[in-house]
Amino acid sequence: MKNIQKIYEHAQQMTHKGNAASYIPALAKEDPTMLAVSLMSMNEQIELGDCKKTFTLQSVVKVLSFMVAANHHGIEEIMRYVDVEPTGDSFNSIVRLESNNNKPFNPMINAGAITIASLLPGESMFERVKSVTAFIEKILSKQVSVNNEVFMSEYHSADYNRAIAYILQANGFLKSDVEEALQVYLQLCSISVNASDLAKIALYLATNGQNSEAVCSKQVINIAKALMMTCGMYNFSGKFAAFVGLPAKSGVSGAIIAVVKEGEIEQLKGPIGIGLYGPAIDDVGNSVAGIDFLTEMSKQYELFCL
Ligand code: GLN
Repeated sequence: MKNIQKIYEHAQQMTHKGNAASYIPALAKEDPTMLAVSLMSMNEQIELGDCKKTFTLQSVVKVLSFMVAANHHGIEEIMRYVDVEPTGDSFNSIVRLESNNNKPFNPMINAGAITIASLLPGESMFERVKSVTAFIEKILSKQVSVNNEVFMSEYHSADYNRAIAYILQANGFLKSDVEEALQVYLQLCSISVNASDLAKIALYLATNGQNSEAVCSKQVINIAKALMMTCGMYNFSGKFAAFVGLPAKSGVSGAIIAVVKEGEIEQLKGPIGIGLYGPAIDDVGNSVAGIDFLTEMSKQYELFCL
């Protein structure tokens, strides 16, 4: 049996240590024992588990919406609205919105991502969402859609995010009104993908955009990876950087993308994109099996990150 298969089987045993997210009712129905892992290089792919099973991007989309907004406005303009500093707080924390001149700390936490949602190109809610789905469609060479059930489920239980949006608006950090920013943000979180799609998105980052026609400047891609490295795994980002050492981003659906700039995993060589889906998450909001898989993998293969 291949080593990577053993790592997968070990990780799958860990799923009982977490639970599917319950604060978004539609996510609570997912099978917590599931784990899908897709690893993709420019010309090879390894798939473990059901890599065609769909789920929603949740916070993984924050990387992509940041890239679309920063590529459109330029990083200087974006940084007038959002900083690039880690917080060590939970993703939906409200406490720091009255520090750092009230500016959200980074685009990987909800406050920064809601601001980014209001800065997306387009004149309407529809166009702003479309700017990100179109970017993802270019990367994946296929159409994607918003899972309306998940969107509505979260929209009706979005008190924290709505509170964050009101504070952002009061302090001048929203370019659209509260409801629009919130709806754009939550629709983006509800885009459906599968684990293979995640691997392709991660490979896009690993190759600095060389694997597809989707356009994003190298500067913005590099900043996105730096944000993933410092803030991508919620308030576990420091430990993840120390013990796994790859730019990665997780979502409460149990999704994770991880980026290998250069490495060798079984038959895969060169830049490698990794996509995982394991809906049992820990207290911080990261897939327990996903973290276990990536931790073991980084111990057993030589991988370079930046
Ligand atoms: N839609 C989720 C929220 O805003 C995304 C959070 C996440 O994946 N951490 O709460």
